[in-house]
Amino acid sequence: MRRPRWRKAFTLIELLVVIAIIAILAALLLPALARAKEKGRRIMCASNLKQITLAMHIFVTDHDLFPWRLPIAEGGSQRKTNVYNTFLVMSNDLVTPKIVACPSDKWKAAEEWPRLRETNVSYFLGIESKEGRPGAPLVGDRNLEGGRPKRDCPVALVTKVADEFTASYIPRARWTNTIHVNVGNVSIGDASAHLVTSKKMQEIFWTSGDDKTAFNNHILRPR
Ligand SMILES: [Zn+2]
Repeated sequence: MRRPRWRKAFTLIELLVVIAIIAILAALLLPALARAKEKGRRIMCASNLKQITLAMHIFVTDHDLFPWRLPIAEGGSQRKTNVYNTFLVMSNDLVTPKIVACPSDKWKAAEEWPRLRETNVSYFLGIESKEGRPGAPLVGDRNLEGGRPKRDCPVALVTKVADEFTASYIPRARWTNTIHVNVGNVSIGDASAHLVTSKKMQEIFWTSGDDKTAFNNHILRPR
């Protein structure tokens, strides 16, 4: 016996209702899922920064100076204007080049240390940092902007490459949406890594312990 026509039509409507419910559920859940994924990446990024900062401390223990203050002939990266040179001289203590790539960055990690280039590095260096000055930012996500560009840094002996945050430029410091959206991870000298807003980043510069008469707060970003 054939099924009545209305029964077929009803099945079709049921199917459409089920599809609609699935579509609504997906629309509700996917943004939450994306947020959870980004949160996981931010935590991995903070873990990278912690490991990089620890490696910097090991470097200072071995050499008495940060890599950007130690001459190249003695194993440092002094006068080098690219960020990746500093990470290369620390590579023994960093284990894998994945550590210098933020998981939220569209720039991808290098496969191995000899292949590391500027576009495999997600982090800026706080090249104004001197040994024994724990308040200065050491390393952080590269999406920090607002500094006065192309400045000389007498601490790292580089010319026309540093971003400078003097007193009049600190209020302009801001995270863009290039990596984490309008926030960034930064590690201070004491090896703690934090997710901070633009306002908090400005506070870090104000309290960096930089020479109040100069107040340069130089950072070197991968370019
Ligand atoms: Zn990051």
